[in-house]
Amino acid sequence: MIFERMGTILTADELIDKAFSRATRAGKGKIVATGHTDKRELEESMVLTAGNILTDNLHNAVKDWPSLDRMNDFYKELTDILVGIEKLKMSLGSLEWASAKSKELSRKYVGIMRREEDPVKIRKQAFGRMASVVYDVDKDLRFLNDARNILRKLPDVKDEPTIVVAGYPNVGKSSFVASVTGARPQIAQYPFTTKNVTIGHFTSRKIRYQVIDTPGLLDRPLEERNDIEKQAISALRHIGDVLLFIVDPSENCGYTIEEQYRLLEEVKNFVKMPVLIVANKIDVKPVDEKVSADMKMSTLNGEGVKEVKSRLVEMIQGVKVKSKAQVEEAPPAGEVYIL
Ligand code: GDP
Repeated sequence: MIFERMGTILTADELIDKAFSRATRAGKGKIVATGHTDKRELEESMVLTAGNILTDNLHNAVKDWPSLDRMNDFYKELTDILVGIEKLKMSLGSLEWASAKSKELSRKYVGIMRREEDPVKIRKQAFGRMASVVYDVDKDLRFLNDARNILRKLPDVKDEPTIVVAGYPNVGKSSFVASVTGARPQIAQYPFTTKNVTIGHFTSRKIRYQVIDTPGLLDRPLEERNDIEKQAISALRHIGDVLLFIVDPSENCGYTIEEQYRLLEEVKNFVKMPVLIVANKIDVKPVDEKVSADMKMSTLNGEGVKEVKSRLVEMIQGVKVKSKAQVEEAPPAGEVYIL
């Protein structure tokens, strides 16, 4: 996941403690190593070490963040919903400021120390000024650490051709994902719901496809959604190429076929993607005229599943070919099309 590699971001207290205690240890180490007991040299090295540690730690905390400008639109939108991109940028900017300021102060106080009588006093002043710079950005450090803890839980969605699966609970969505993707899917959680997002992959003619099942999002009427959930559903438009809507005409899932079609209409209006409607559980009940589906299958005995998968691949290729035709005059750099 894109935020997973980021380490914990220390609070101002922790960072100051780390910098000053290391600086003290480095100073003592220098005496042992060189036998020098020149007080000025010792104090100078403490100020420089503390300054470097603060500068590097603050700078690395910024550098560790995935580039907000290069992030794909799905993550960008979720990041904005969950923590706010403007706030993030401001906090990262504050850390860069504090990093540069720590460096500047440590150099400045080393200069002063060379001219002053009492190096210990100057070192204490330097530590005081540096600490106050770090305390100035304590709220940013805390905000960024909270943001990181929220964002690292986001599912690992790739820029790959993507099938989004929808339908009421128990219609057979996860059975379908398991059946076409084979390998154990990745289970992740949106930070704002307790439901899992399932992401599986399959390869067809050397192209990797991603199948996303989003229980809790596309399995209930939208009126039951809060704003964050609605935005998260809407963010799926950035990655989804086709929507597979599964209905269960046997109604074993606990919802009538009419209810299921009402949900389909809502989802269709909300998620603007080509839709394939598939009737599942045909082993229980043959599809009658009440049910209008593009295809039918049984994920239990496997009937029709391969055909549904092939149809989805064809539809995605259709979408990509169409979008290529639309941008033929000025293709964006680096765009890859499946043909
Ligand atoms: P989801 O909630 O939409 O992901 O549905 P699941 O895939 O978890 O399936 C719900 C229940 O329906 C499970 O008990 C499955 O075994 C069952 N089920 C799924 N597909 C079929 C099918 O094609 N035929 C029958 N008879 N049962 C199915």
